[in-house]
Amino acid sequence: MSSAVPASLACIAELLRCPACLSPLAAGQGSLICARRHAYDVARHGYVTLLPSARRCCPIGDDAGMINARAAIMDAGHFEPLTTALAERACSLALPDSSVVLDAGAGTGHHLVGVLAELQGAVGVAVDVSRAASRRAARAHHRIARVRSDIWEEIPLCDATVDLAISVFAPRNPDELARVLRPGGAVVVATPAPEHLQELATLHAISVHRTKAMRLQHLFTGWPSADRVQRVSWILRLTHQDVARILTMGPAAHHLRPDFLGHLAALNEPVRVTAAVELRTFRRPEHRLR
Ligand SMILES: [Zn+2]
Repeated sequence: MSSAVPASLACIAELLRCPACLSPLAAGQGSLICARRHAYDVARHGYVTLLPSARRCCPIGDDAGMINARAAIMDAGHFEPLTTALAERACSLALPDSSVVLDAGAGTGHHLVGVLAELQGAVGVAVDVSRAASRRAARAHHRIARVRSDIWEEIPLCDATVDLAISVFAPRNPDELARVLRPGGAVVVATPAPEHLQELATLHAISVHRTKAMRLQHLFTGWPSADRVQRVSWILRLTHQDVARILTMGPAAHHLRPDFLGHLAALNEPVRVTAAVELRTFRRPEHRLR
């Protein structure tokens, strides 16, 4: 059953494109619809799914447990220094008043809310493939349109429609970002630094790859850097429950050590943990890469 199209989605509907025929969409009665009558119902929770029909029902992306854990950590303010740094970067880019800000791999939408708070005339488009994330972020902010789509494959926006994209601990698709950014547009990429959550490394079996920065630069070859690399680091003070949530809100959730709970119980509260994130800003290349 479809629901009314939220105002946040209606006002940017024409920037979105149909996954079947790639033409722009428009807001209809409870759905977004293209000129060839492909229709996409708005879910009860206020988001629209723009995936090829064969994939619409697939359980992909972060599950409800991961999203609930992330929402609890974000709502408690543990990652506020990162949100603040993203908002400051956005402000420093001197964007047009009525900018469109894309959060590619938005999760709960928490960081995008922080960015929009500093960009009063801007509207946000939060894209994530997870149904649980889409449900939660649909109620995150009245200026955020929520779209469930897979940015690995394509970004569900028309060409040259986005002023600023943010990518926070998310998959990156530079070809699609270059397509959807307007000339002069930029992407701010946040990635974990090598020491991010290092005190918790004994609890799980994955680590931040040391060559990540090099791979990131390679991925954005041909994109002018708009600024220096900014390191944001702070100390988290966590309860055991917070630690469990931080580990289960990301990829470590699938790689916890079998004796995880025993190790966790042995840590003194508050557990002091390093958070360290690197921010990079890349300008859209003048000539599209493909
Ligand atoms: Zn269509």
